[in-house]
Amino acid sequence: MPTDFLKRLSEGPVLCDGGYYLEFERRCLGSYKSHIPMGVLDYPEGVLEIHKEFARAGAEVIQAMAWGVRTNEREQELHEAAVKIAREAAGPDRYVAGTLSPFVYSGRSKWSPMTDDDKKNAQEFFERRVTQQTAAGVDLFIVETFYSVDEVSLAIPFVKQANIPAVVTMTYRDAENTREGYRPGEAAKRLVEAGADVVGINCMRPWQTMRPLMFEVKEAVSVPLCAQPTGYELEPGEVFNRPLSVAGLWTEVEPRVLTRFSMAQFTAEANRMGIGLIGSCCGTLPYHVRAMAEALGKHTDLPDLDRKYQGLAL
Ligand SMILES: [Zn+2]
Repeated sequence: MPTDFLKRLSEGPVLCDGGYYLEFERRCLGSYKSHIPMGVLDYPEGVLEIHKEFARAGAEVIQAMAWGVRTNEREQELHEAAVKIAREAAGPDRYVAGTLSPFVYSGRSKWSPMTDDDKKNAQEFFERRVTQQTAAGVDLFIVETFYSVDEVSLAIPFVKQANIPAVVTMTYRDAENTREGYRPGEAAKRLVEAGADVVGINCMRPWQTMRPLMFEVKEAVSVPLCAQPTGYELEPGEVFNRPLSVAGLWTEVEPRVLTRFSMAQFTAEANRMGIGLIGSCCGTLPYHVRAMAEALGKHTDLPDLDRKYQGLAL
């Protein structure tokens, strides 16, 4: 078992793995139609392979593929399998992160505040998700891709009750505020008040447009920070600003995957900015993580020969 996660984070930058959800679908391990996370049960060997690729690349945190799990009669089985597979790939030296994703799919075009029934259902679901993943053995939780502070604030207490570090990141898809209208700094303060140990931003923006928002977060709070930008060259809101089906959500931007050098540059800049937990989200693959590891001077099993980003952050 590695050192306590928050202690480790206080000693220097920690590197997360890359994006799972879209890569599952792309590798035909899961389907938009039949629910992507089911791949954990249907094709565990394929899931294990992705985790191992990220681990070989240098990721120090392996995130259980439980993002997007819905209320499901197999949810316990799914959570247990996701954590078990991640642990197998993580081995004794890497951290395994459990995952919580929004209960209400906040990407819907018209936001409305949660009703009392919504809140009750969300709390029950978050509690089950935390209990099931905790029982399977996680070192931290990454609570991510939330658009609403009110919603994520319902989830955080269950992680804290389990006495597990909570990394909580908001997503700013097409606006620079949460669904409640909070700027990133104000949102971060509220997350910390709700119990988050690490706060930041993930997904939907490459570093270029996430960076100014992360500066607001940095100004507002004194807890460790996390940034996990997308691996696509995107303008804010771009993938959702046209009438796409769910399946078409990301496919149009597939040719616009960022280079490994771009991800290494982001890593170096995030490190200079003092962001402790550096990772990446949708669109990023093991070769990105390897470049990011090398930018931080970390170990990677299969070094890249392109030396221009090795030690970029040192
Ligand atoms: Zn993402």
